[in-house]
Amino acid sequence: MGTDDDRLRKYRGKRDFERTREPSGKSASSGDEPRFVVQIHDARRMHFDFRLEVDGVLKSWSIPKGPSDDPQDKRLAVPTEDHPLEYEDFEGVIPKGEYGGGTVIVWDHGTYEPLSHDRKGRPVDFEESLERGHATFRLHGSKLRGEYALTRFRGRDGEDAWLLVKKGSGRASAHGTPDPRRARSVRTGRTLAQVSEDETGTGSGNGSETGTAD
Ligand code: MN
Repeated sequence: MGTDDDRLRKYRGKRDFERTREPSGKSASSGDEPRFVVQIHDARRMHFDFRLEVDGVLKSWSIPKGPSDDPQDKRLAVPTEDHPLEYEDFEGVIPKGEYGGGTVIVWDHGTYEPLSHDRKGRPVDFEESLERGHATFRLHGSKLRGEYALTRFRGRDGEDAWLLVKKGSGRASAHGTPDPRRARSVRTGRTLAQVSEDETGTGSGNGSETGTAD
């Protein structure tokens, strides 16, 4: 467990804060309940970014298909670098040519309850459960609610990947995942196209961006 500066070195190393309005991660204030955020990121490949507040940073995963509230869906979640807590509020356009160039909206946010436990049902520190590769938590968002599990596995390329799965059997009420191009920000009600239009005067998105996917 290092300082925030150590933990965010990878995040900062990828970005030029003279050019992107993404936060550089100066402050680390937090309420009592840990936070989560799901952003939709129209980068080279459209994806959802799922972030959980853990020990002063946002642990982050890129989820190509987005989180699902259907317990039968297992969603691939590829770990990405820790992000600063202020990133929860980031909604806007990352300039073309910059890391992750494209439009971001805050699709959902809220708090979560860590629920991780061992096989005997004893509580396990949440950060430790992530290090061990299996964490459970209950989301209290505007859109995502209920218990989820993140479980690590070894991907085909030998890199670690994770699966995000909703727990339980509530399929009847499940909505799956919305179309990211029609989904609206929980903060401003805007779609990706509207955010892009507001910031750059074009709502065409960023499908031709050639940067990396995060
Ligand atoms: Mn991303």
